[in-house]
Amino acid sequence: MAVLSFPWRKSAALPDSAATPTANDRLSLLAAVVDLLPDPVLIVQRAAMPNAPVRVMASNAAAQELLRIRGDGESLIAVLRHPEVLGTVENTLATGEGRTMTYETGGPQSRAFRVWTKMLENDARQSALVVLRDETDARRLERMRADFLANASHELRTPLASITAYVETLQGHARDDIEARDRFLAIMSVQARRMGRLIDDLMSLSRIELNERVPPSGVCDVALVAREVIDGLLPVCSGKNVRLQLTAPAGSQVVASGERDQIAQVMQNLIDNAVKYAPEGTTVLISVNASASFEPEAEGPDANVLREQGGGRVCLVSPERSHEQRYVMVRIADQGSGIAREHLPRLTERFYRVPGQKSGEIGGTGLGLAIVKHIVNRHRGGLAVESVPGQGTVFAVFLPQGEFG
Ligand code: ADP
Repeated sequence: MAVLSFPWRKSAALPDSAATPTANDRLSLLAAVVDLLPDPVLIVQRAAMPNAPVRVMASNAAAQELLRIRGDGESLIAVLRHPEVLGTVENTLATGEGRTMTYETGGPQSRAFRVWTKMLENDARQSALVVLRDETDARRLERMRADFLANASHELRTPLASITAYVETLQGHARDDIEARDRFLAIMSVQARRMGRLIDDLMSLSRIELNERVPPSGVCDVALVAREVIDGLLPVCSGKNVRLQLTAPAGSQVVASGERDQIAQVMQNLIDNAVKYAPEGTTVLISVNASASFEPEAEGPDANVLREQGGGRVCLVSPERSHEQRYVMVRIADQGSGIAREHLPRLTERFYRVPGQKSGEIGGTGLGLAIVKHIVNRHRGGLAVESVPGQGTVFAVFLPQGEFG
């Protein structure tokens, strides 16, 4: 079957560099380039007869693939069924004026396209150039950025509004009330610290995201880092009567390749959460193991049991698979409130918090697990969570095993 193409495509060849390129050489080259463009490009034409359909006279490979163009001179309406796009093309052919518009294909896999039309100059046969550009990903990113900004502003505005209200009260009717002043100042201090934590987390997240494609250098002893993080959290734990228990191979180092500070941040965020969402008097078990393989996606024989209890097991970050790759695995298991199955896949979204979850006096920022995800991604590692409401949660982090040089 003849596949419609730019007519000169087959003859496209680089002119001999010693010779002066002819007009035909240039035309061939140009056609070859257009054919390689990622954006669909069409030349459409209307025959001189009244009410003649607009036909596709040439198309590049991207257009043929997108619009499933099968033969020469197919009518435009048969391949591009969107009435507004057809109207725009008709309009350009009728008025000679170029247009630009956007349209969405619709359906569950809807994609957004920008369309440019431009009359081909000096063409007695009324031809126009139509270029489509897939803007789906760009739009999604734009929407994500806007959502992120709106969420971040909202999160900062809440404590700020509280501080502003207390300042006004202290300047007004509570001016001479010493007892109220101390109470309000304490609240303002909590809110100010919350804003500080939010800003710190936002800065961390943006720094980590900037570096996400740069592989980390260095190696670190994960058991040692876990011990240091646990020591740092002891004051919080004793205040809450939660015990932290570490199990690691005795007397040997457990070495992962990666950046020590970022690995410490992963553990800090996960252990901190375990303590935050655990009831008083419970124990958080942290274990560090070498030579683990990555297999959390396996549903496992207990998958149905987890499901019946309203819980589940979800892989939140999965490394590129390689059977030989061994990992250092860190598991953090708490006896806290647990997380219902439907929330598990969303835990690493920025600002996502499980509805109705109580984080105690120190409210979370909703950014801790997003930070964990990006660090694990950068380390080409893995992250999985298993949880049952009312019983507890286990997070497992997998970091590529390393060696001290
Ligand atoms: P936050 O700062 O709110 O803790 P995270 O990104 O660290 O934000 O966690 C997102 C949400 O996941 C939390 O708000 C909480 O609802 C839930 N979550 C995280 N860790 C646990 C846990 N160990 N037990 C129960 N829920 C948890």
